[in-house]
Amino acid sequence: MDQHLGLAALEAQVARDIELTAHPRTEWMMPRLWRGKPVFDVLIVGAGQGGLVTAFRLMRERVHNILCIDRAAEGREGPWVTFARMPTLRSPKDQTGPDLGIPSLTFQAWYEAQFGAEAFAAMSLIPSVQWHEYLMWYRRLLKLPVRNNIAATAIEPGKLDDGGSCLLVTLSSGEVLAARKLVLATGQDGTGEWWMPDFVRALPKDRRAHTCEVAIDFERLRGRTVAVLGAGASAMDNAAVALEHGAKEVHQFCRRVPTMIQQYRWLTFAGFLRHMGDAPDLWRWRIMGHIMRAREGFPEDTYKRVLAFPNFVMHVERPWTDARMEGDRIRLETPKGPFFADYAICGTGMRQNVHLRPELRSFADKIALWGDRFTPPSGEDDPLLAAFPYLGPDFAFLEKRPGEAPWLGDIHLFGIGTTLSFGPSGSSINGMSISVPRLVAGLTRGLFMGDLPRHWESLMNYKSRQADFDWTRVAAD
Ligand SMILES: Cc1cc2nc3c(=O)[nH]c(=O)nc-3n(C[C@H](O)[C@H](O)[C@H](O)COP(=O)(O)OP(=O)(O)OC[C@H]3O[C@@H](n4cnc5c(N)ncnc54)[C@H](O)[C@@H]3O)c2cc1C
Repeated sequence: MDQHLGLAALEAQVARDIELTAHPRTEWMMPRLWRGKPVFDVLIVGAGQGGLVTAFRLMRERVHNILCIDRAAEGREGPWVTFARMPTLRSPKDQTGPDLGIPSLTFQAWYEAQFGAEAFAAMSLIPSVQWHEYLMWYRRLLKLPVRNNIAATAIEPGKLDDGGSCLLVTLSSGEVLAARKLVLATGQDGTGEWWMPDFVRALPKDRRAHTCEVAIDFERLRGRTVAVLGAGASAMDNAAVALEHGAKEVHQFCRRVPTMIQQYRWLTFAGFLRHMGDAPDLWRWRIMGHIMRAREGFPEDTYKRVLAFPNFVMHVERPWTDARMEGDRIRLETPKGPFFADYAICGTGMRQNVHLRPELRSFADKIALWGDRFTPPSGEDDPLLAAFPYLGPDFAFLEKRPGEAPWLGDIHLFGIGTTLSFGPSGSSINGMSISVPRLVAGLTRGLFMGDLPRHWESLMNYKSRQADFDWTRVAAD
């Protein structure tokens, strides 16, 4: 009989592990004010996995005066129980991340404590819902400070009451929060948008969707012909859900013959995950560009899910070039002739465009992009890569024109927009164990440097004696 530790016992173990590894314990942050009101040392926008793990790491570094905000309701953050239409994660079950090296905080420990080691051994991939439940447990257990149902809508520079710099973040409630550092853990579209071709967007709203949409009414697709664009895993997951809801036929259209190769598996080694961000621009552009252009191959389970249906058809080397309504049907133009469907779903991923994000809009033209900082060799141009933010080593935005907006250096990005600068980092489970400590080291570095005069003053006032000096034992010569 397999023994289960139970969650209560695991939680006690987590507390002990955290306590055993708590060094250095001394608090070091100093309270600051803006217009007489307390200022957060770090404000994190986004309480998905990236925001939560960043918060935990900051707390381990004794930076407690922090807050995570999320526009989603509690339990609805991120894709896992909203629009990730897949029964299991695509990444291997032994990829760690949120635990930040504490074994009792891993997904495996959480799972085994409830269902046993045999059940974990028998599992092929982590069920998406359980990954989400694990993140919810993590947030509750570690008492991470999160406010839900509130969005960051604008960011501007401000001045602390003592003359130092801060950022002012306007919330959807109208409230303004001041913070010394800001982390944008706003997910896959955090520096852009979920993209679909304009001609698809122009179709009636009830005839088309992007895979990122939470509210696709698959029941309505029963008995209908559905066309899906894209060769990635999300496109295929949406095709599968349409089939499972009784679609008459589902046709998936790909620009190329899918490679079936998952380049993200190749790059999963310590050297790459830790040092890709240190590589010269040319190599970052070339290697990450190649990997991102190849797109993620769909996993075997996802492929089997659609192949189980005889009414699933794949069209390769057949992109859509235009679309319009013809009578009651959608007419999709392709190089191999038109195709008629009742509903179109785009699994076309996201594109970088900092101008499209409301919270970035007022200063988007000041953010340095790869296209501003790097000229690729002839034949290696790629406008999609050129739109990625060109980040500093601490994940902070850099200025397009130096001197124009130095406060951008206090806005640190931790979404998919970090990928060209660092390889898998923001919005990645794979890179998390390496990238979160690196991000947080960048945050604490900035906070420490900003406080150097105060640390000097503190050192000068340091009077804590190890023992009383015994003058009676000093020679009277
Ligand atoms: C469909 C899908 C499947 C994936 N599957 C895998 C997988 O199997 N394995 C893997 O390793 N990776 C996978 N990923 C990639 C990655 O792990 C996820 O995207 C993950 O959710 C990234 O975490 P995150 O915290 O960066 O973003 P998210 O989890 O998306 O969290 C971002 C949060 O920011 C909030 N937010 C955004 N803007 C604002 C704002 N202005 N104000 C307040 N809140 C805001 C959002 O509400 C959201 O909750 C998948 C991604 C997708 C989209």
